[in-house]
Amino acid sequence: MVLTTICAAASRGARPAVRLSARHVSMMSQTQHSGPNVDAAAAALGESSSSSDGADASASQPKLSERFAFLPDGVVQVYGRKLMLSPTHITTFRQCPRLYELRHIERLPEPPTEPLVAGILVHEALEQLYKYVPAADRTLPKLQELFRDAWRKVRLTRYRELFFPESAEGDAADGDAGGATRSEADVARERAWGQAALGKMANYFTLEDPTEVTPESVEQWVGASLGGGLEVRGKIDRLEVVDSDGGLAIVDYKTGNAPSQKYSAAANAKIRRDAFFQLYVYALLLREGANDGAGSRDVRELRLLYLGDATPVTEPVDPARVDATAAEVRDVWDRLVAAIKEETFEPIAGPLCKFCAHRDGCPAYLP
Ligand code: SF4
Repeated sequence: MVLTTICAAASRGARPAVRLSARHVSMMSQTQHSGPNVDAAAAALGESSSSSDGADASASQPKLSERFAFLPDGVVQVYGRKLMLSPTHITTFRQCPRLYELRHIERLPEPPTEPLVAGILVHEALEQLYKYVPAADRTLPKLQELFRDAWRKVRLTRYRELFFPESAEGDAADGDAGGATRSEADVARERAWGQAALGKMANYFTLEDPTEVTPESVEQWVGASLGGGLEVRGKIDRLEVVDSDGGLAIVDYKTGNAPSQKYSAAANAKIRRDAFFQLYVYALLLREGANDGAGSRDVRELRLLYLGDATPVTEPVDPARVDATAAEVRDVWDRLVAAIKEETFEPIAGPLCKFCAHRDGCPAYLP
């Protein structure tokens, strides 16, 4: 029998850990607390509401004692599932612990955004291209066709709210019952969004020739237990063997522009370091023996392909930095566990607050 120790702070219950708006509570009733807590995209793409009344409904939130449990060997459970980290989780916690709590512990849904959905679908099209299309047939029209197919499947369902206001009943062009009731502005917005995404794929073809790429894997989940209850997982866009001894390159597609390097040398170095953090975490996981049974793998090269402005940014792997990344991940884990024990997820306001889906109920947000 596993001995479970409920967080002592949980029993205090006097101060709510999060102040939720009525919108949050309504959305939470539809949120599933199951499965690995590592998929940020899933959390970001749930149902949404356009209301933002900001009413305090903390009385309806779950009791704190129901949220966390501490098991032997440092394992932490959140709503009965093992707490794990991903590079996205780490970045979110560093940016704002409160956002981490709302997004990855409470899993409050967030409305989809145009850049997010474009990124998801471009990745999906590239995955299909490399998984199912013979090398000789990997052309730009084929990639763009895969994108269009992927969009057709979700534009009237999962992501309908992006370009179809609630008043719109359907779209005759898609054979949807109800006829085309969208405004010209909504139609134009969807077209512009699609054209921009197709342009990113055209940019991709200026960065590499897919007919000459031989991936070892695409969209592969990797994970490793790093001790003390810390387990990290992530999904790698593409892995390639680049050395005769099996050394790997990690390739990651970014649908935005490459970060600017117009600042001081120190600032530029930090920007570049931050840009590669996610890939260094993957290199760490592969080195530590990804849990796919492949054992330890040596990563030699990291490649960021920015499709927004057709910029590749590549660097060789520095083994010392893999060690430093392990320390960074451990530090975030320790701070996260401390936050859980204290039931304190401090909001850290910053320039990204204006994009935060939870700003309405956030005491730190200043419009
Ligand atoms: S509005 Fe800013 S401070 Fe508040 S939760 Fe969002 S990111 Fe954090």
